[in-house]
Amino acid sequence: MSLNLFIIGPSGCGKSTQAKLIAEKYHLSHLSMGQLLRDKIGSDSPLGKKLKFYVDQGIWVPDDLIFEILLLELNKLHNENFIVDGFPRVLNQGKFIEHYLTELQKPLSLIIHLDVTFEEIMTRRARLGQKFQDAARTDNTPEAVAKRQASYNDTINPIKEYFSSSGKLFDVDGNRPVDPIFQDICQKINEMR
Ligand code: AMP
Repeated sequence: MSLNLFIIGPSGCGKSTQAKLIAEKYHLSHLSMGQLLRDKIGSDSPLGKKLKFYVDQGIWVPDDLIFEILLLELNKLHNENFIVDGFPRVLNQGKFIEHYLTELQKPLSLIIHLDVTFEEIMTRRARLGQKFQDAARTDNTPEAVAKRQASYNDTINPIKEYFSSSGKLFDVDGNRPVDPIFQDICQKINEMR
């Protein structure tokens, strides 16, 4: 049975940490949307310059660019199972990938939503201080963080509503240490298999 997972949640919620653990346990390829974008930005191509404009400000990259980048990477995987972190960010992206995977007869398995409060993210940031700051990231200014948070709140609810109705959304309380969150996610995945 194919396993095609997506993990979403606000910036700094720990989704990459969970995605890595899940990928390791279930032998999945791990794609991070944010990292793919940063890699492209680092390459200094015309596409990279376009992406930098959005990412530096903490605003969503337009869907057509996101789809182009993601599909290119998914095609490289051939038939491997995968987990994508940081996608879908808006409902349109969710509908697009659902349709795309259905056409390939590898239906979307699950969208894991890591539910973490803004307060918790701020507390973690304060605790980690400088260590939290990834030197490669230019979008960690307070303005960019606040902007991402505001657009996050606007976009998550339609995604949750749409995928809940087909049972493809798993909401997990992310305001906890890594381990119990991971255990809950594994339990859900195991139930599906
Ligand atoms: P992240 O590393 O997941 O926090 O993403 C960093 C930045 O990349 C975001 O602030 C957006 O500008 C951009 N980004 C990441 N994923 C997406 C996506 N699925 N759609 C649009 N923009 C995205």
